[in-house]
Amino acid sequence: AKEKTLSLRMVPLSHEQKMLLAHDITEIDRVEAMRRDFVANVSHELRTPITVIVGFLETFAEMEKPDPAQFKQHVALLREQSERIRRLVDDLLTLARLESDNDVRDAPVDVPALCRRLLEEACSLSHGRHDITLEADCRVWLLGSEHELYSALTNLVSNAVRYTPEGGRIAIRWREREEGGAEFSVTDSGEGIEPQHIPRLTERFYRVDRGRSRATGGTGLGLAIVKHTLQRHQARLRIDSTVGKGSTFTACFPPERVIPPLQAGVETAP
Ligand code: ADP
Repeated sequence: AKEKTLSLRMVPLSHEQKMLLAHDITEIDRVEAMRRDFVANVSHELRTPITVIVGFLETFAEMEKPDPAQFKQHVALLREQSERIRRLVDDLLTLARLESDNDVRDAPVDVPALCRRLLEEACSLSHGRHDITLEADCRVWLLGSEHELYSALTNLVSNAVRYTPEGGRIAIRWREREEGGAEFSVTDSGEGIEPQHIPRLTERFYRVDRGRSRATGGTGLGLAIVKHTLQRHQARLRIDSTVGKGSTFTACFPPERVIPPLQAGVETAP
């Protein structure tokens, strides 16, 4: 075999290059630490309901003659825990899809109609415990992915229901912004959020109150999905909140995403 000669020349790094290298390594460490945290979080979130399910199944296996009422109660709890796993896996898949595919399949989105679906969803989650209103400007539509926008904005609506006590008010709004573009917002009269938590709310699995989030069926991934989806639409999320008074989550869309409504019959097939 031919011998390969390798010539190596040691070039001393400049101070600037050394700094850049140190910066890259710090960045790699940071990304690696985030990945480890994420895997640990997912494992923990899955393990908790699975442990409960296995515990119940063991109890079932030991029962000679199960009491019908107790049996029903156990089955309901098993279903609840299984639902929790399904929601978590669904949210993880949504996030993975948002990250792996950079292109939004743009189409005209009838946002007022989407808002009406969100209102129905809020009412069905609330079971009449809140006063929920909708104001939507019918002259404003968006260019984007209807499916992605619905699955993101539904998180803002369900959070408002989940973090607002009975008798509270929830307002869903869609309107043009004075400075250009358009905004979708959800305002609640709920418990509010202390300012130090606000910048971290869109991190995966970040919750102000872990127990409360879980008890109301939260996965801790909702606002991360909102942030990613909005970024893909060149939009941003603004969070305003006052403890004890309530919160407003606003999705702000830039002017280039805003379009007039399509006339019936003019719509072209993709
Ligand atoms: P979760 O599934 O825990 O609700 P999210 O990512 O949707 O996860 O929200 C992250 C955290 O932000 C929640 O756990 C909660 O502490 C806080 N939060 C979100 N929406 C509201 C709201 N409308 N009012 C008060 N706190 C909220």
